[in-house]
Amino acid sequence: MANYWHEDIECMPLEDMRRLQTEKLKKQVQHVWDNVPYYRAKMEEKGVTPDDIQSVDDLHKLPFLSKADLRDAYPYGLLAVPLTDCVRIQSTSGTTGKRVVAFYTQHDVDLWEDCTARAIVAAGGTADDVVQVAYGYGLFTGGAGLHGGSHKVGCLTLPMSSGNTERQIQFMCDLGSTILCCTPSYAAYIGETLHEMGLTPDDIKLKAGIFGAEPWTEEMRRSIEASLGIKAFDIYGLTETSGPGVAFECGEQTGMHINEDHFIPEIIDPDTGEVLPEGSVGELVFTAIDKEAFPLLRYRTRDLCKLTRGKCSCGRTLIKMCKPMGRSDDMLIIRGVNVFPSQIETVLIEQGYSPNYLIEVDRKNNSDTLDISVEMTAEQFSDKMKDVQDKERALASAIKTMLGISPKVHLVSPKSITRSEGKAVRVIDRRKLHD
Ligand code: ADP
Ligand code: ZN
Repeated sequence: MANYWHEDIECMPLEDMRRLQTEKLKKQVQHVWDNVPYYRAKMEEKGVTPDDIQSVDDLHKLPFLSKADLRDAYPYGLLAVPLTDCVRIQSTSGTTGKRVVAFYTQHDVDLWEDCTARAIVAAGGTADDVVQVAYGYGLFTGGAGLHGGSHKVGCLTLPMSSGNTERQIQFMCDLGSTILCCTPSYAAYIGETLHEMGLTPDDIKLKAGIFGAEPWTEEMRRSIEASLGIKAFDIYGLTETSGPGVAFECGEQTGMHINEDHFIPEIIDPDTGEVLPEGSVGELVFTAIDKEAFPLLRYRTRDLCKLTRGKCSCGRTLIKMCKPMGRSDDMLIIRGVNVFPSQIETVLIEQGYSPNYLIEVDRKNNSDTLDISVEMTAEQFSDKMKDVQDKERALASAIKTMLGISPKVHLVSPKSITRSEGKAVRVIDRRKLHD
């Protein structure tokens, strides 16, 4: 079944796409040069003018923008149109430091909602679907983004926002929601609550979920799919580039197609800034070639990722990005070893634990400590000290095999770790507090 929102774009031959990107890029660089003194100064410093950008191959000549620039230019310094032409402001969730605000004209809102519409259609959505949007509404882009796309597709949209989980399930049952949109950690929580309410996937009509806004593992995907009886699709985006929908997954589930007609991706070496060849892991950089109000050029996301272009069974030609392996600043260096929280999540779920855990890193006697609290499920729970200790030892050893360093594992009783209704906080690095 062909399920495209913009078939001509989503399946466009590469050469045509590059032509389209070149045309838009040239226009965008001129727009920014003319209207954003902050970025123009950066271009001048690098000795680049709009004339130097004649095609997408010249993209690498442009200077980068970073989150620090956004903070520097806060709030209006990167605005490229008069404020009166803007119709919307959204803001980051502030996972890492000060919030960033982004501006949208009506054109920008439309193109963003088109991106999320593509994601909904790729997940099998049609005008017959009931889409339950359980991302937070408000400044955060999750709720607004999927809400807009759902309207475009003509789905019956349930603007639930996050929280009040039993009511989410009640509505899901009563109104027959078929597609759920929320963070993966909240989807896991909804799945858990469904079972606690004595229900099974047979009691609901959900068929698909569109989950993103935070890193999640393949193991987490399988666990959510089983608990809700659905196919779970990944969606990626960031406030700076409009919000979720920059990239979306198709039924093949082997990476997310990037909406290249709006966002040109590059992978760079985070230390040198050098552009890396396709297939290399590095920092993902986006150039927004269509946005009017907040048109970031070469924006460094800090997300570590890999791009691959190839034939996809869905028929789309859009380049794919892998699941981000975490942000470069999420990576923990513990006793000299690089550790991503996602590696720990993979082991926990493989070993039959729920994705409810907390990683705590500290420094004692000049040595880094790694403590991982993991919740037991009701079936795993035991009040025999020895049983619990054996399990802790087995889990610590499996994690050591994955990471190369030994953690201290604490198995804690069911329900003792706070559930997330938005982006989960899974790491506390106390070393930063001592600095
Ligand atoms: P904040 O930076 O405050 O979290 P955003 O809400 O704009 O602000 O979040 C964007 C970030 O969320 C991305 O840069 C990325 O790190 C993360 N993210 C978004 N979608 C995904 C996804 N599908 N997988 C992994 N990480 C994601
Ligand atoms: Zn595909």
